[in-house]
Amino acid sequence: MSRYEMDQISCEHCHHVHDYVNYRVVNIAIEPQLKDAIMDDSIFTFTCPDCGFTKNYHHPLFYYDPEQQFIIEYSADFERFKHFISLFHQHNIFDKYTIRWTDNWYTFKETIQIIDHQRDDRVIAMYKKLLLDDFRVRNPECGTAMALYDVTDEERLVIISENLEPRLYSFPNKWYDSVINKPITQKVLKYGNTLILDDDYVRDITNMDVTVKIADVKLPLEQKNYILSIYDDGFIGDHVLVDTLHSIKPIEGIIENIFDDNIRDLPFGIKTIKHIVYNDEERDTFSPFFADIHAHITQNDVYTLLDILMDTVIYIPMHYKNKKISTMAIEIHTHQQLIPLYTSKDFCQNQENVLYFRETFDNIIHQDIITADGFVINPQMPEFLVVDESFIHLYDNYKLTHQYSYS
Ligand SMILES: [Zn+2]
Repeated sequence: MSRYEMDQISCEHCHHVHDYVNYRVVNIAIEPQLKDAIMDDSIFTFTCPDCGFTKNYHHPLFYYDPEQQFIIEYSADFERFKHFISLFHQHNIFDKYTIRWTDNWYTFKETIQIIDHQRDDRVIAMYKKLLLDDFRVRNPECGTAMALYDVTDEERLVIISENLEPRLYSFPNKWYDSVINKPITQKVLKYGNTLILDDDYVRDITNMDVTVKIADVKLPLEQKNYILSIYDDGFIGDHVLVDTLHSIKPIEGIIENIFDDNIRDLPFGIKTIKHIVYNDEERDTFSPFFADIHAHITQNDVYTLLDILMDTVIYIPMHYKNKKISTMAIEIHTHQQLIPLYTSKDFCQNQENVLYFRETFDNIIHQDIITADGFVINPQMPEFLVVDESFIHLYDNYKLTHQYSYS
């Protein structure tokens, strides 16, 4: 669901006070009509009902598209966004998502259109750079210039410059297909992820010269290199959980060294660190996810989390024989009987029951078929989100008091 707050705005022209719908989170799968409001900027527009005066308010916007598995935030605070996303990453939620942040409203809209057309925004950025470099050489008098992806009629590129008329270019289908199918591009796109497509990143990716952080991890039986995810800040001495060939479950190691390496030079099959155990306390004691959330992030982030959980798809194992949902509860430190839920079907398939049931979080927690004390999301993770009676109470209350339907 999308979320907005009702702000009171005093009209600058007639000074009458009116409600203004201030969107924070847009779930485009549920409210697709909001895409038009984004594209024509009206999502930011306050129109006075009395005198017709209009003004734009550029507030932060968190855009969430569960169908395309895409998240982009338009805001001024990158560190806060990164921290918020890293919390999800710790629980393996959004692992397959494209996640971006920008403080540029045009980039925000452009990226949405690129993803909607099933293009990789990083490859489009590469082409825009090549096109623009060539344009500047041919037209040294152009002044400041920029290239834009445009889909007004069909996919194409536009160069807008200070001193020349806008130039239109047809979309380079052949170039795009040949680049995206190259093994080196695929390797760079797989490991060289980013939350921000800035000039430095685009330059590096165009030259296929992207560095990633590698952690040298000491494990009980061996010493091995792992990629440090862009979502995590790892330090020497941190305890981490990693996959190995010898164990089905992730095992714990210690980061002994961190260094930069070029993606070209990465060995085949190198894995990413699954989870950083930030301190000994976290490792030794069960820390309820929500306490963690309250300690680290703002109330607004909690609401965003609840909004997103509402539409998060979860998987639950099914019995092979009778095709019924597995109601086998597990017990955790608190001795509650909890039904495990998984945010990826891959986690389910590690279980004996290989069939799975796919449902939204919102629907599953309100099913009566299951009698237990609650649910636990991704119990294979060292920190897990317990969805017990009090959590469901908080969730339902939030739903009642903070959700408005757009009219
Ligand atoms: Zn007015």
